[in-house]
Amino acid sequence: MTTDLRDPRINLVGRPPAEIAALLEGYVDRPFRARQVGQWVIDRNATGFEEMTNLTKEMRAELGRRFRVTDPEILDRSVSSDGSVKWLFGLSDGIAIEGVSMPENGKLTMCLSSQAGCAVGCTFCVTGALGAGRNLTPDEIVGQYRVMLRQLEAPVDRVNIVFMGMGEPLLNTTHLGAALETLYERVSPKRTTVSTSGILPGISWLADLPRRPKLAISLNAPDQERRQQLMPIARRYPLRELMAELRRFPLERGRRITFEYVLIRDFNDSVTDAETVTRLIRGIPAKINVIPLNEDPQHFPQHRRPDDATVNRFAVALRDAGLTVTVRWSKGLDVDAACGQLKGRHQGSKPQRRG
Ligand code: SF4
Repeated sequence: MTTDLRDPRINLVGRPPAEIAALLEGYVDRPFRARQVGQWVIDRNATGFEEMTNLTKEMRAELGRRFRVTDPEILDRSVSSDGSVKWLFGLSDGIAIEGVSMPENGKLTMCLSSQAGCAVGCTFCVTGALGAGRNLTPDEIVGQYRVMLRQLEAPVDRVNIVFMGMGEPLLNTTHLGAALETLYERVSPKRTTVSTSGILPGISWLADLPRRPKLAISLNAPDQERRQQLMPIARRYPLRELMAELRRFPLERGRRITFEYVLIRDFNDSVTDAETVTRLIRGIPAKINVIPLNEDPQHFPQHRRPDDATVNRFAVALRDAGLTVTVRWSKGLDVDAACGQLKGRHQGSKPQRRG
């Protein structure tokens, strides 16, 4: 349930244990009570104080007067034939955002949004076409995970989190950082990925984090000219500087940077393009996720999906050059829920106001 904007009570969702403990100081009789509340909210995914049965009734009532445990409201969900679910969440100010959950090989990947829109304006992404939206707060980010976990009854040790939903996460680093710290209590940095269009100050911020998530770069073109046609942000953060920053990026042992490459017919899908991409990322521990475009004739009639043979030729050219390649064939396409596909990646969903 979302909450009334006028509700003055502090939401405990999206806060790490130490912060919950600090907030509760003075409202609980012993410090370990605050730790118990933190465990209920973070580890046990509680939705309210009434569930916290190891606290006295009086204490639950007292805490409930000052604090709340509130998640985004589910406005809608669409289930794909492959089990992917597209979630429409309502926030307390009437904005709606989307998330996607995708089961795969016994794991569940949750694709979370970080903003209610996007100012970056990639020319293949409906969220970008619809324009900027506000930053999501840590409770709104972590709340998407909490709701999906609860609704899907997913075992938490099988969950991966990717920030590839609506918005550019590295334009919301303050709230993203707080959300990551809370999410890490349950989902390790190794199972968390932040995907960016290439915001250089944000990548430096990530590099300096003591606990870094995995990094994915939305690359999408082999050269500066075509990249800035697709992604206007590339004018501000040119490809050459981006690649230099990535070569400096500290990688934990065994980790690689993922490059996402949306394949668009007759634009960036030739074998020569694959060879250029290979040269571009040579020397960086990397894997490439090739994503055949999820067409959207309504918003982007100029972009078409390549045929399967072209997709395969492109992927094989990368593989033959020694790169690790995966091709994401339209997961959740029937509900337009293909996280990582930029129509789908950002869901083509207008940040909506309800009411
Ligand atoms: S692809 Fe990502 S960064 Fe680009 S406009 Fe869409 S939401 Fe923003």
